Amino acid sequence: MAKEKSAIFIIFGGSGDLAHRKLYPALYRLYKAGVLKDHFAVIGTARRPWSDDYFRETVVTSLENLDDDKQKMEEFAKHFFYQSHNVNDSKHYIALKELAAKLDDQFSAGHNRVYYMAIAPRFFGTVAEHINSEGLKTKNGFNRLVIEKPFGRDLASASELNNDLSKAFPEEEIYRIDHYLGKKMIQEIPNIRLKNPKFDKALSGKYVSNIQVTLGESLGVEDRGGYYETSGVLRDMVQNHIMQIIGSIAMDKPDEMTAESIHKVKTDLFSSLKVLDPEEVNRAFVRGQYDTDRLGKQTAYRDEENVDDNSNIETYAAGKIEFDDERWANVPFYVRSGKRMPDKSSRIDIVFNDQASKLGINPNTTVSLLIEPENGHSILVNGIDYQDSNQDLIKFPEDKTYFDDAREAYESLIIDILSGDRIHFTLWDELQSTWKYIDVIREQWDLETPKFPNYLSGTMGPEAADTLLERDGNSWVWDD
Ligand code: NAD
Repeated sequence: MAKEKSAIFIIFGGSGDLAHRKLYPALYRLYKAGVLKDHFAVIGTARRPWSDDYFRETVVTSLENLDDDKQKMEEFAKHFFYQSHNVNDSKHYIALKELAAKLDDQFSAGHNRVYYMAIAPRFFGTVAEHINSEGLKTKNGFNRLVIEKPFGRDLASASELNNDLSKAFPEEEIYRIDHYLGKKMIQEIPNIRLKNPKFDKALSGKYVSNIQVTLGESLGVEDRGGYYETSGVLRDMVQNHIMQIIGSIAMDKPDEMTAESIHKVKTDLFSSLKVLDPEEVNRAFVRGQYDTDRLGKQTAYRDEENVDDNSNIETYAAGKIEFDDERWANVPFYVRSGKRMPDKSSRIDIVFNDQASKLGINPNTTVSLLIEPENGHSILVNGIDYQDSNQDLIKFPEDKTYFDDAREAYESLIIDILSGDRIHFTLWDELQSTWKYIDVIREQWDLETPKFPNYLSGTMGPEAADTLLERDGNSWVWDD
């Protein structure tokens, strides 16, 4: 049983989608696990004038899919309080401060505060500034600021946001969420490498032909068309999730399994990203937007709600990323992410080259680490399952049920925040390098009008994504 934690959570945007779909269920699971027990309270804030009782009802409703232990849910909801709040109104922060202090006494929460930004990104800076200027931070406990993505929309806006935040919170109190870093398989990669020295040794340009990262979704934009129009898959998935996954698999071995050591090797890796010249963009990256499906039944992106009829926003991107790094010289990292692909599938495929036989790895071996919908790994030789005869290459997880009771990403990240463990959060230095890389692509794409839509819903994306690999004599491991 995990150790009990104490804190007052202040959730800015407590009536919103993220809070209801992700945060309250995660907090409830932690309550059931005893991580949150007697010494915590949650203040939800939003503009609407809600009562505590009404807020608690909405919290309980958000848990209804989890189980039917109504009594437990009601007990949990007693820890929730509502404070109507407008981000620009200083008086409201004073009211929040007083309520937090009162609840801290009532629940003996150790003067610990978690300030969670479940609110539109344009408010992040203002809220952080007011938390500081209105004296919400406590002296004798921790004060941790949790920031949701997106962290800026390019390097300039991310730097501006970071400047605003750093006036109010030092870097070590800022927890930038990338929920992929909360997923069990991603968290396990450093351990997999540590426990499988042969596999770890093979992770280098000497033995690897290419590495592929796919974050495929079968759904379209659903009801988030408005948000998507301001983002596109390059900003929404590649700059953050895909880069962080590459970081986990390609970083050098850290000296220790501490946040400091891990972030150091990750930062070094990202600073060696080979930033493209504008004229290289269209050779290295492909973009796409979904049309209807073969039967004309699914809604094309341009016909989705809150989407411009002539939108040039990409719902698919594939690219070849390279590093100026001794370990990874000349190894292409092929990445792709798209909506309306045939299945949901998040995975890393590591394709070994002929030299890998020097380590006793069969020619044409591919190791796939499966992140979603299922956790696990597979070893294929010439496309055929070779798990048993490659036992010494990668033995993990030994226990097949290892991932079964894995904590959901937000649950695991909230424990880290409460424990002050920053391993699974993104640091500003990492973001600077990844934005710098992405900005060139975005800027080039914005200069040209793409021929959209260019792939049917339910397919693997535009053909050019296959050509991208074929030009190098390679092909995607995950294919329909
Ligand atoms: P939402 O629109 O559902 O909720 C926004 C919340 O902010 C509401 O509670 C609203 O009342 C409050 N709010 C709006 N204006 C306000 C003001 N002036 N003063 C005080 N409160 C105000 O948004 P969401 O989908 O929950 O997203 C919240 C944040 O989380 C965003 O930064 C988003 O990018 C990020 N995020 C959301 C998801 C998701 O699945 N919803 C996933 C990843 C990141």
